[in-house]
Parts: sequence; C-alpha cells; structure tokens
Amino acid sequence: MAGKRGLIMGVANDHSIAWGIAKTLYEHGADLAFTYQGDSLKKRVEPLAKSAGSDILLNCDVTREEDIDSVFAGLGKVWDGLDFVVHAVAYSNKEELKGRYLDTTLENFLNTMHISCYSFTSVMRRAAPMMKNGGSAITLSYYGAEKVMPNYNVMGVAKAALEASVRYLAADLGPKGIRVNAVSAGPMRTLAGSAIGSARTTFKYNNMTAPLRRGVELEELGGTGLYLLSDLGGAVTGEVHYVDCGFNALGMPQNLNEVL
Ligand code: NAD
Repeated sequence: MAGKRGLIMGVANDHSIAWGIAKTLYEHGADLAFTYQGDSLKKRVEPLAKSAGSDILLNCDVTREEDIDSVFAGLGKVWDGLDFVVHAVAYSNKEELKGRYLDTTLENFLNTMHISCYSFTSVMRRAAPMMKNGGSAITLSYYGAEKVMPNYNVMGVAKAALEASVRYLAADLGPKGIRVNAVSAGPMRTLAGSAIGSARTTFKYNNMTAPLRRGVELEELGGTGLYLLSDLGGAVTGEVHYVDCGFNALGMPQNLNEVL
C-alpha cells in the first residue's frame, strides 16, 4: 500500500472495524485520513490516527451533506488524489433494534437508510473525482441483509439496500477503474454491534455453530480490507465478500444437538 492514500470513515474506538482495517493498511505503508463523528469522538479518534501516522482528521456527520463536502474540500487541500475509501458507518435507534421489524417508525426507517446506506453513495460521488488513477472502496455489511436475523430489523433492510448500492456503484464507477465492494462481517463486539438486541446470544450462536466454530478477529477484517483495497483484489468489484467464519454457508448447523 506504499504510496496509496485513503479515507477511513467510522472509527469510534480501537474495537471499531474501521480501526482494524486502518491499522492493517497503515502497517502495509498506506497514508491515511480519518473522519470522526463530532467532538465527543474526536478525542478517541485523534490518538488512534496519530498511532497510524495520520494528522488528517476531519469532522463528519454523514447526515449533513455540507460535512461530507467539507471532508473532500479538506482532503483536496492536502492530497492531490485518493486511492481508497473505507466506509464503516451505520446507525439505527436502539429501541427499534429489538422486537418486531413491523413496528419500525418512518422517522427511524429514513434515518437508518440515510446514515447506513445513502451516506456511502454520497461519499463515493465526491471520492470518485479524486480517484484519478482508479481506486477501491469498501463498505461493511452483515448477513441480516440477506436472511432474517433476530432484532436486526430495519438495519437488515438498510444493509440490503447498501449491498444493492454497491452493485450499482460498481457498475457506474467501473469504467473509471474504481472498484466497489462490501465486506459482510460476522458479529463483532463493537459499539454498533452491541446496540442490537440479544447481541450476546447472536454472538454465542455464531461462535458455536459457524464452520470454524469461533468469531471473527479484527485483524482478519484488516486482511480482507488489504486484499480488496490493494491490487491483490484487482478484478474484484460489485461483490459482497463474507468474512464470517463460514456462518453464511449453513442452512442449519450440523452440531445443533450440541448447542440445544
Ligand atoms: P462502531 O460503533 O465502532 O462504528 C460505527 C461507526 O459509525 C462509529 O464510528 C460512528 O461514529 C459512525 N456513525 C454512526 N452514525 C454516524 C453519522 N451520522 N455520521 C458519521 N458517522 C456515524 O461499530 P462497527 O461494528 O465497527 O461498525 C462499523 C460498520 O460495520 C457498520 O456499518 C456496521 O453495521 C458494520 N458491521 C458490524 C458488525 C458487528 O457485529 N459489529 C457486523 C457486520 C457489519
């Protein structure tokens, strides 16, 4: 990744998936810029960015188009090009990440879609013109986009839309040599991950039943980020790539008798 420059969106702390990916990219020589969501997270993100050799920190609430504009204006001042983007941003009202999907309010539906799906499109519209020599972008998804997972509710619907948008973005930007992919991660103990109702049960069930019989490590998502954002993933675009210890391959766990 030496000589490659990239924007990392979605670090909240050192458990964040965005941080796991950023760390690996930095270790492989990439130059990084980070966004943070408001002042309360700045103090968390700043030391992490520093440890990854970066002093480019940009405030961005993705619900504000003007914030996204100023991120790219800021990047344009320090860099004359961009090679990759990591979008690891999602939000939904915790109260609606339990119970029935049926009870989703319009307000939370729209906000979840805005932050967790549309923001990637909005970011890529600004990133693409800076990717003059082609580029690569990834966003983070979850199996709840494809199959019903307990309490994932409106976030599953937003992730399904996000995965569809990955395919449309890949088609729009492919002719410019820009690749767009989603990484579908198994459950991780992060702030966003623990906001989902009965997260512990989901976590435990995944670890007990996935073909590898364990959870995903942050470093493994780092490795996937490195593959998709570097030339190693050269011909891969429009994909949803599972990094979930094989959980998505199951129709029914083979060891259900042990689990029940
Ligand atoms: P996290 O809480 O560390 O990261 C979520 C990030 O989203 C935070 O940095 C937060 O600041 C940011 N964010 C939320 N609303 C925002 C807004 N309005 N503007 C700007 N930023 C905003 O949790 P994470 O698990 O690392 O989540 C990263 C991505 O990975 C998310 O898209 C999440 O859905 C996805 N994912 C998580 C899991 C899991 O189990 N944790 C599994 C698969 C996919």
